Amino acid sequence: MDGLSKYTALSLNLDSFGHATGTFPLENDPFWFQVLDLILEVLDTHKVKATIYVIGKDLQNQKIRERVKSLHLAGHEIGNHTYNHKQNFGVLEYEDTLLEIRNTHLAITSATGTGPVSFLAPAWNRNPHQSKILASLGYSNDSSIFGSPLMFLMNLKMAYNFVQKTLRNRELPRTYDLMSVFKRKDLCFNLLGSNYGNIRAQVIGNVFEPGVAQLPMTPYPWVLPYWFTLEFISEKLAEVAFSGILNQQYRYLLFHPADFANEEDLGEHANLKNHSLERFYVDKERYRELFERRIVSLKRDSSFVTMSELANQMSQ
Ligand SMILES: [Zn+2]
Repeated sequence: MDGLSKYTALSLNLDSFGHATGTFPLENDPFWFQVLDLILEVLDTHKVKATIYVIGKDLQNQKIRERVKSLHLAGHEIGNHTYNHKQNFGVLEYEDTLLEIRNTHLAITSATGTGPVSFLAPAWNRNPHQSKILASLGYSNDSSIFGSPLMFLMNLKMAYNFVQKTLRNRELPRTYDLMSVFKRKDLCFNLLGSNYGNIRAQVIGNVFEPGVAQLPMTPYPWVLPYWFTLEFISEKLAEVAFSGILNQQYRYLLFHPADFANEEDLGEHANLKNHSLERFYVDKERYRELFERRIVSLKRDSSFVTMSELANQMSQ
């Protein structure tokens, strides 16, 4: 690699439009096609590859399976983002957890011919069985830990958007199964982070398996995590958080298709107005430039790698 001492990975959480708006299965899902095209254009311009976390159920669609294969052939890493993206993944029993992880594992393996090794739970859940299951399937890394009080702020913001939309349209906006969010019990556990590894893991009833590197959003609960959606919440906060990750030797920039989409990108689905994705109604050109600026500054002192390469570098 270029002799640079830091490493950066790009983590794209490909939460499909069909999933995010509760309209799954959706033929010609815009996040998988039009919006992903925009993202790939930016990545190609800067000659960087991403780790793209996919929801297993999306791969029931033949065109999406082909897309996944071509992403893999283009050098992007395909990661496992569970089968149904359950918001309460953290409280699932062992059998259900296994199905959520294994079914996506099999779907990716059959689409690309290669077993995935990078995992990310939906909505930064922390499930006590996940590490053991990931280890048994040969995973090298897990980036499900958020580890910051910002998590509560983010949940409040989501609830606020939902209520505001409901009042404005006088009907419930289309979204994923929202009630399952309230079944989560791990929000506080997540705050403990993974920095003290097994001690904290024992305390919260989660066991980290050796061999599965933990890649938390932020290494310490008092360091603000940076993920691109933060730019839409507060640019000032995002600036502080971004300067924080610039100092880290191993870091990743997490982003979503919704960060790049606006109504025109939805094609035949643009008539679906009543959904809870608020980031659609802003100047996307500006955010795209901002994203590119972030990539350029991360490139200044680091080599770009995939999430699994990042985990490898960390364990050397
Ligand atoms: Zn997701």
